[in-house]
Amino acid sequence: MTAVAPDWAGLAASVQFPTDLLVDGAWVAGAGRHEVVSPIDGRVVADVAFASAADVDRAVSSARTAFEDRRWAGMAPMDRKDVLVRWAHLVTEHADQLAVLHALEMGKPAREAKAIDMRAVHRTLRWYGEALDKVLDEMPKVGESSWAMIEREPAGVVGAITPWNFPLTLATWKIAPALAVGCSMVLKPAENSPLSALYLAQLGLAAGLPEGVLNVVNGTGAEAGHALASHPDVDVITFTGSTATGRAIMTAAAQSNLKRSWLELGGKGANIVFPDADLDKAAATAAWSVFYNAGQMCSAGSRLLVHESVKDEVLAKVLEVAAQMQPANPLQDDAPIGSIASARQLDTVHRIVTDGLADSGELLTGGAPVLTETGGSYYPPTVVDAVRPDSVLAQREVFGPVLAVTTFGSDDEALRLANGTPYGLASAVWTNDLTRARRVSKGLRMGVVWVNCYEEGDLTVPFGGVKQSGFGSDKSLHAMDKFTDLKTTWIELNA
Ligand code: ADP
Repeated sequence: MTAVAPDWAGLAASVQFPTDLLVDGAWVAGAGRHEVVSPIDGRVVADVAFASAADVDRAVSSARTAFEDRRWAGMAPMDRKDVLVRWAHLVTEHADQLAVLHALEMGKPAREAKAIDMRAVHRTLRWYGEALDKVLDEMPKVGESSWAMIEREPAGVVGAITPWNFPLTLATWKIAPALAVGCSMVLKPAENSPLSALYLAQLGLAAGLPEGVLNVVNGTGAEAGHALASHPDVDVITFTGSTATGRAIMTAAAQSNLKRSWLELGGKGANIVFPDADLDKAAATAAWSVFYNAGQMCSAGSRLLVHESVKDEVLAKVLEVAAQMQPANPLQDDAPIGSIASARQLDTVHRIVTDGLADSGELLTGGAPVLTETGGSYYPPTVVDAVRPDSVLAQREVFGPVLAVTTFGSDDEALRLANGTPYGLASAVWTNDLTRARRVSKGLRMGVVWVNCYEEGDLTVPFGGVKQSGFGSDKSLHAMDKFTDLKTTWIELNA
């Protein structure tokens, strides 16, 4: 039996959500207000509070008090686990509402938001909830007259600054491990996607998260984001977003209290297709990996590096998939992709494509905004062939559904091209030769390498990059280390 699709448009018209800041467990007005404009049709869908630096300061002080009085860190681990698991289940109960908020605020198809994002959010909260009492402290062997303990202590107050492309998945990749180890938090969602974050926080309170443990300050990057990154009482700042903003955040962290900063930044992922691969699967996946979510993914496969002998065959299939993945209103249950997240981002995407084509390459499909009569921000799958490796489209992160195609002749050349950008987040190798798969994947300077697949993974494995894609991966047990201090206690026994 096929499930009946929810009435997304009806839900979009009726969904209720908080619009204020969450500080110390209460919804409070901020110093400013901000209209959230939907990229679906350019309509204003909400008027939310926007935080000033003073509002951020209040949120940090609430998180500090909650941390110092140990209302969360001091709770029995089993009880903390119960809260996170309850929260996960509430997310699933409210998945339709959260999904429709994603569609409204950043244009992702509601169906995808429910199937992919809300499932990820549920699993992330549950996985870290269940993991939290399974990461053990250590007692090394130091001789019989002493005890030494290495304890994992929560690092304190964590500031999280998150982007709009996977608003809740990426926020939860930070919230869940930070809360699991006992930290308190201040979350600043992206300015155009605060609605789902506020709704998620409301569910956290309902799940039993004590007041002040998670605070949410909607606001601009320049004011609220900067206030958080430079706050003297924030112990750790964790960020996902552009490389330029990551640089500003690290500078603010260094210039304030030297808080630890973790940066998950941009990428310029490649699908590297060798002639011995399953070409049909490689081409279909390569197309999907850059058109899915309208290409707004740091890990997008935005470059296709294909062996010259199979280029025509692979490109024909890519263009077939491109034709099928045309954008549509994200409230339509059959929308293959939705809109670009904002009018500003649409301008950015189109500007980079225009500059790129002036520099190098031949446009095969797409290349200009569509559905402009809707008042929304839509860009079609765009494929540019014969892109020179040093040119704009091969080097710059577009963050839109834009694929740059370049050919190679040898394995060494493929590796050189794949590694030849400032980024090092993720790439895929397509071959049925195990030795080649290992040699090429080993040679890629990337945080994540896929062989004969793309975007695979689960919570057990880290996700993050090297070079200017950042450091300090999300996901897996390793993410808990980012929010933990190691403390040594040496006890002399006089034995
Ligand atoms: P975009 O330009 O596409 O919005 P960003 O990387 O700038 O991408 O945004 C990601 C997050 O970083 C958002 O929450 C944004 O508000 C925040 N941000 C932007 N600029 C700054 C800054 N200077 N300091 C702290 N946070 C910032």
